[in-house]
Amino acid sequence: PVIVLSGLHSPADKVVAFDLGAVDYVTKPFDLMELRVRLRSALRMSDLIEMLGKLAHIDGLTGLWNRAHFDDRWAASISENNRSGRPLSIALFDLDHFKSLNDTYGHPAGDAALQGFAKLIRREIRASDIACRYGGEEFALIMPGTTPEEAAGVCERIRNELASMNWPAHPERKVTVSIGVAGAGDSIDVSAENWLEETDKALYRAKKGGRDRVVFTDLASGQTQDTAKAA
Ligand code: GH3
Ligand code: MG
Ligand code: MG
Repeated sequence: PVIVLSGLHSPADKVVAFDLGAVDYVTKPFDLMELRVRLRSALRMSDLIEMLGKLAHIDGLTGLWNRAHFDDRWAASISENNRSGRPLSIALFDLDHFKSLNDTYGHPAGDAALQGFAKLIRREIRASDIACRYGGEEFALIMPGTTPEEAAGVCERIRNELASMNWPAHPERKVTVSIGVAGAGDSIDVSAENWLEETDKALYRAKKGGRDRVVFTDLASGQTQDTAKAA
């Protein structure tokens, strides 16, 4: 934030300063104590605005990034892959039979499962990975610098951890997730939309193949693999 400190006292001068983006205008001679509180107030305001901007990109239930943030970061990640040739992978997660979990144990139990899963993802990923709630009971994980094989390994670990978790609200029922991964070990000419579509296809295969599994596609070779079958 910019505070103008000036010897010019006319309203016209102040209008110019504010129109240029100043948040405050202090005239000379000035009182240091007053300038200090005006500075503090300007900084408080800019912190608040920054926080609001961040909140607009955070999912309220899980604390993960939201869909709007995902859209920004996914487009940026694709550009980075095109430019640098660094590996890039993405995973889409869809919790299994989630409607039945809600129907059997109630919406709060469903919410708790979403929160528990979000916490698990956060614990398992690298600082450079971007975990988002994609919508409802679907999550997306962007993994820069990660080949599809490595990404499938990360997802397999997450899948396994979730399947072995105990839930206080329903100790008799496990929560599982199906995961589709698509990635490339090098720069690749695939649009953001098509890349996501390939990931969605892998996820669909994971569902079809019996759920609670990871299916990954290497976009360079076009090869798709089910980690359950590979094991
Ligand atoms: P599948 O294994 O094929 O994915 O089956 P599914 O039941 O998970 O799939 P479906 O898309 O039919 O159901 C998704 C359910 O997720 C339905 C919806 O009520 C629930 N859901 C979406 N958002 C929330 C939420 O924020 N909280 C809770 N508790 N449930 C949610
Ligand atoms: Mg779904
Ligand atoms: Mg589901």
